[in-house]
Amino acid sequence: MMSEVMDLATHPILLRTELPGPLAKAAIERDKQHMSPSLIHCYPLYVKKAAGCMVEDLDGNILLDCQAGVATASTGHCHPAVAAAVKEQVDTLIHICGTDFFYPGYGALCDRLDRLAPKVDNGWQVFLSNSGTESVEAAIKLTRYHTGRHHMIAFRGGFHGRSMGSLSLTASKTKYRKGFGPLIPGIHHVEYGDIEAIEKGLFRSTLPANEVAAIVVEPILGEGGYIVPDKSFLLELREMCDEHGILLVFDEVQAGMGRTGKMFACEHFAVTPDVILLAKGIASGFPLGAMMARKEFMTWPAGSHGSTCGGNPVCIAAAMATLDLLEGSLVKNAAEVGAFFKNALHDRLTSNPIVKDVRGLGLMLGVEFDTHEHSERVANRCYERGLLVLECGASTIRISPPLVITRGQAQVAADLFAQVCQEVAA
Ligand code: PLP
Repeated sequence: MMSEVMDLATHPILLRTELPGPLAKAAIERDKQHMSPSLIHCYPLYVKKAAGCMVEDLDGNILLDCQAGVATASTGHCHPAVAAAVKEQVDTLIHICGTDFFYPGYGALCDRLDRLAPKVDNGWQVFLSNSGTESVEAAIKLTRYHTGRHHMIAFRGGFHGRSMGSLSLTASKTKYRKGFGPLIPGIHHVEYGDIEAIEKGLFRSTLPANEVAAIVVEPILGEGGYIVPDKSFLLELREMCDEHGILLVFDEVQAGMGRTGKMFACEHFAVTPDVILLAKGIASGFPLGAMMARKEFMTWPAGSHGSTCGGNPVCIAAAMATLDLLEGSLVKNAAEVGAFFKNALHDRLTSNPIVKDVRGLGLMLGVEFDTHEHSERVANRCYERGLLVLECGASTIRISPPLVITRGQAQVAADLFAQVCQEVAA
């Protein structure tokens, strides 16, 4: 079994059929009859198994994964160390409910996150959830509770989840909100990167600054287009929050856990928020999220928040194994291979007339196109050629492979991506 995993992990792209193949087509037709039509399914990929950066579909085609289950399979698919930790935990304790009881792992993971995060005077305390959305919900509740205020500022282009609270903060595409109103009151959106829009547009005219509980921001915009802001933007948000007693919340659900070449994305900007939200890569694909707050703000009392399965022992085992791997070599690999990948894309794409920008940090890379039609065609054609990437923003493709990707795989991906861009531009 182990050698099968290794064989797939080191396998080159192999296309046995046109994509999607006949087995995938039939299975998709059958499955769609029973599944919620709200699911997106950006292209007809039907995965049978996966290892490292390689994914095998139902027809035996092997594809190179540069999206990692939407930036989540951080240690690569089915990393043997993660799988072993989970198997051992499943034989020991699957569930007892961390809201009501203690068990080994919960406190240890919270302690580990506290030690990994940027240093703050009193340290961090952590609430464990099942997802990014739930981490955002926890932050909405904690910041409201602690400040006694309910207004919040968020940014156009931001994505924070799809439950009613997190959806109220999400402003990346109207389709996520359409038909679901009214959402929670008191959320004010401004342009990402625009401090004046808060100072002049809100504080001077409609929103008293001392009635704002939190500013919620992605330190690098994910779903909204893989945009790295100026350092000054996050720094000025920090100063604004300090001046008005507002809590600064960084949603690092997509950008955190080593993806950008540092464990926490905020480390690139030398700005430390009051609350950090994590999920996705934290447990290599097991459902786990975290809402970390500076200890002095964790003032909510027993019973005010909880979760039946949040921080369950199996997900924690996966997270501990994931953190071992991230700390061991993968954050470094994300920085090194990420820089190589970005340069490779840059070299191959600069003269392409449909490409507007190549950007990003570590293995959170974005390629912006002139039109949405072009980014869509590139993403679909990459899939047909055996390379998995995803769209984001208005006309950007995000490249967010597992952090185990090698230089060789990055080179293959950059070559194939550039070829596809050339075909689409022709
Ligand atoms: N926050 C950010 C920045 C995200 O990118 C996402 C998901 O893409 C979420 C929150 C929601 O996370 P989840 O889908 O795990 O609920």
